Amino acid sequence: MNLAFFQKLLALAVATIFCTNITATAVEMTNEWNMPNIELNKNAPLDRDDACKYLIDAYSRITDTKPDTYPLAVNVFSDVNAKEQPYILQAYHLGFVSGTTKNTFSPDTQITKAQFASMIYNFAKTTSAEAELPQIQTLVFPDSVEPYFLPSLQFAYSRGIYDKQSDGTLGANTPVTLGEAAVILHKLVRSAPNYPIVADTYGKKIAYLTFDDSPSENTKVILDTLKKYNIKATFFISGNYNSDLLMRIYQEGHAIGNHTMSHEYTKQYASAEAFWADFEEEQIYLHSVLGFSPILMRFPGGSNNKFGLENNVMADITAQSKVKGYLYFDWNVDSKDATAVTVPKDTIVQSVLQGAKDKTEAIILMHQNAPKTTTAEALPEIIEGLQQMGFEFRELNGSSYCPKFTK
Ligand SMILES: [Zn+2]
Repeated sequence: MNLAFFQKLLALAVATIFCTNITATAVEMTNEWNMPNIELNKNAPLDRDDACKYLIDAYSRITDTKPDTYPLAVNVFSDVNAKEQPYILQAYHLGFVSGTTKNTFSPDTQITKAQFASMIYNFAKTTSAEAELPQIQTLVFPDSVEPYFLPSLQFAYSRGIYDKQSDGTLGANTPVTLGEAAVILHKLVRSAPNYPIVADTYGKKIAYLTFDDSPSENTKVILDTLKKYNIKATFFISGNYNSDLLMRIYQEGHAIGNHTMSHEYTKQYASAEAFWADFEEEQIYLHSVLGFSPILMRFPGGSNNKFGLENNVMADITAQSKVKGYLYFDWNVDSKDATAVTVPKDTIVQSVLQGAKDKTEAIILMHQNAPKTTTAEALPEIIEGLQQMGFEFRELNGSSYCPKFTK
């Protein structure tokens, strides 16, 4: 499963030809936790053996590694067969689960939602890029559980991984079925590895309008429209002109990110050093106008752009971006406004609405530079169309949904 996912990613990266920001599609997790037998046994209870198997699969997905490379804990359990159940010893070694007594693991014991929450909380602590996960300690539930389980349940609920039931409880003391576990793990993987607090977006449809490149006359139209609809968006700036418009974007409350000074693929993706020199040049400019240095960024062509991949520099650059404290955003809805110099307005509207149809969180790629007059003209229809589909609008920030083409 992991291999297929990775191959899909590679095929996509190789097949995609970038001239500008075109034809990209984010690779998304499917809504199904595609474990064997899940359809047949959806209502069967999850036991400790299943939980380990699923957590190891989840671990493999978010780390892009293969389970047969994971070390096994020493088998101290009289009821675990190391050959047939290596995933138990791996999950134990990684700290996802503990034994039930000193010498037994009790693989066949059914587990409750509180117990599963504890396992996924351990999983998050092991896999989180940050040593500490942001906590919400004010969340209370009417479930009667040991205080020991409360942080795990708060974690699961605040990330949108667990839902409240109609009676207001989390059903913490009820057994988990295989079908429920599939949904829970899908959400867990979706939230990894930074596990942003998503409770306020959970159950909502959120659209993030993003506008790339240099501010132009179109930016004025875009800003007027955003103001009219009372919507905040995100602008990824390249170049160093129209500083007055850059300031206006900021003053009207929109988020600002760095999209490099030159936007010249061959130059900036020649090496990691070349990229950061170009990026820092833009950063200095943005600071000189705005008085602060943005932490949001977007790679010209996206993080899987052809030039960076061909020169084999993207893995270094994306890893360095994290060390430097920047957050890069790709997109999962393409307005296709960069497929020609000027694209017909209706094509842009349809591309966005079609692309957002199956999304609960849509990061929408658009452009603000001078030739993109039709993007600015399309914006009111895009906004109203998305509103009719139930979307609310947000600007991007550190805890936003963040699809990435490459990790
Ligand atoms: Zn661009």
